Amino acid sequence: MQNLFDGVKEFNSGDFFEHQKLFEEIGRSQHPHTLFIGCSDSRVVPNLITKTLPGELFVIRNIANIVPMYRESEEFLSTTSAIEYAVKVLNVSNIIVCGHSNCGGCNALYMDNASALEIPHTLKWLELAKNVKEKVTRLKIADPLQREWVTEQLNIVEQMNHLLTFPYIAEKFEKGELNILGWYYLIQTGEVFNYQREDRKFVKIE
Ligand SMILES: [Zn+2]
Repeated sequence: MQNLFDGVKEFNSGDFFEHQKLFEEIGRSQHPHTLFIGCSDSRVVPNLITKTLPGELFVIRNIANIVPMYRESEEFLSTTSAIEYAVKVLNVSNIIVCGHSNCGGCNALYMDNASALEIPHTLKWLELAKNVKEKVTRLKIADPLQREWVTEQLNIVEQMNHLLTFPYIAEKFEKGELNILGWYYLIQTGEVFNYQREDRKFVKIE
């Protein structure tokens, strides 16, 4: 635990000064250009892989970078409220849904019943990706690694589609006022692949 406290001290006495002027500028307001929806996975670091600074990305992270379908509700909706704030108040120009390799959330879609009993809330959350599991199952992919990658990538596309169930997102998207991007991040190589709608393919950003 001590390393966390040491980290703060090091930040205050070192790294902070590197961007001190920026921190002063953004101290009272933020104008992020992008809403980044990523997995909670510790290996996905949005600012690192986009080389962006504080103030640039508004970030939502949850299990398997999921976007619940739009609905009006009296419940406490974390992801939905953060999307609403980013699009309606902060007026972001881009939304990125970023999935990644070796995603535990996507793997949990195929969990056996005994293990599933331990994580009921995670499994409930993953019902929002059940279409993905159905599509992948129909493909009958024998190679486990390939099945993993296909699941992770189809999940990105599924969640991009869920974004369009939000009326105010669909409207801005159709008017060309909002970009919706799907990215696949390969942890071990650092490569990021961008989803091309026309060809339905992820193409390496280079
Ligand atoms: Zn993940």
